[in-house]
Amino acid sequence: MTIADLPQRPNAPSLDAFWMPFTPNRRFKADPRLLASAKGVRYETVDGKSVLDGTSGLWCVNAGHGREEIATAVERQLRTLDFAPTFNVCHPIAFEFAERLAEIAPSGGGEKLDRVFFTNSGSESVETALKIAFAYQRAIGQGTRTRVIGRERGYHGVNFGGVSVGGMLNNRRMFPTLPGVDHLRHTHDIAKNAFSDGLPEHGAELADDLERLVQLHGAETIAAVIVEPMAGSTGVLLPPKGYLKRLREIATRHGILLIFDEVISGFGRLGAPFASDLFGVRPDIVTTAKAITNGVMPMGAVFATREVHNAFMTGPEAMIELFHGYTYSGHPVACAAGLATLDIYEREGLLTRAASLETAWAKAWEGLKGARNVIDVRRFGLVVGIELAPREGAPGERAYDAFTEAFRRGLLVRVTGDVIALSPPLIVEPEEIAEIGSILTGVIDDLA
Ligand code: PMP
Repeated sequence: MTIADLPQRPNAPSLDAFWMPFTPNRRFKADPRLLASAKGVRYETVDGKSVLDGTSGLWCVNAGHGREEIATAVERQLRTLDFAPTFNVCHPIAFEFAERLAEIAPSGGGEKLDRVFFTNSGSESVETALKIAFAYQRAIGQGTRTRVIGRERGYHGVNFGGVSVGGMLNNRRMFPTLPGVDHLRHTHDIAKNAFSDGLPEHGAELADDLERLVQLHGAETIAAVIVEPMAGSTGVLLPPKGYLKRLREIATRHGILLIFDEVISGFGRLGAPFASDLFGVRPDIVTTAKAITNGVMPMGAVFATREVHNAFMTGPEAMIELFHGYTYSGHPVACAAGLATLDIYEREGLLTRAASLETAWAKAWEGLKGARNVIDVRRFGLVVGIELAPREGAPGERAYDAFTEAFRRGLLVRVTGDVIALSPPLIVEPEEIAEIGSILTGVIDDLA
């Protein structure tokens, strides 16, 4: 199969050379889904079919596709300063973007985490956050703290630190992982919390698992604990009411830094700029990426409190405070994309818009309660996870079938194991939400 076999694409390349990430390549290449353009909440395929973007690309295109002002800003920046390093020299736009981010930085109700380190992806933000945590503990004379705690069913990207603290079996079992990593128990409990409307009632006490790990390893060995306030990639797992607050208290009590991975939940996905704000919990470090540039340029940012930052900026001056950074940290074109993105988010109120769509969003999924093979629907902000009963001996296959059939009917969804996840652009209108709900409900009914 080549792209040329599809209508309207003569002389197109073969599909052989590109080894696609996180994809069953042989399946895909036997039945390709190729997107050619996008505007607003819709893609168009190479054969001219319209597909609703139920996933904001990969949780990143929060302001919708084809935003002219981002394209203009990117083009202008490319023609002015295409690249300059940020090691020892810099450019104003990196400072300008960091300052704008600092203004809206997560605060959890306290002082903002207004010190910003730039990366190029969520995975890099996670590595950066972990390294800052270790280096911080050393800087304050706590160099024995070389362990880090993640969580089962967490996802923190694909680099070695992130895979180690993550809790996805498939991502871990093929590779060696870092020593000194342990995991909190996950908070997913269908027996107690199925079809919770919003945050689950049960499970705050699971945060006490951190006490167990402190007992086991000794607080003096633990640098940080990292969790997603809402785990997206492992199946939309919402934090039980009170869980994150309790985690904060335990971490504080033992001198452990709390890192929130907000690569998905940042920039408005849950109805507030950051989950830290929504849940009123102030972490020490927050990782972001994806929607920071509306997905247009690869970029990430790590937010740190001034307490963390100051540990590097006080004391005897060193040649370099943190031995870490990327060639493209603060890339000028990505900063330009990010600034234009923040302009749109602020002008259109997108960082809180998800909250005003909750009624429409909830209504879209009402029909799935009690539907055959649906064992849970988890909805919060502008996210839903629909968990299907796995087919005997074939985990994930039922959800994958729903994904391919939904695409055929003009809706892009994301599948992770037996869960179908949706997270449309924050500009989506209630009628489009209804359309998304109706297509997917139809697919699930028909497959049953
Ligand atoms: N952390 C979280 C919470 C994520 O959801 C993701 C991506 N889905 C990442 C990290 C990794 O981001 P990236 O794919 O940009 O490296």
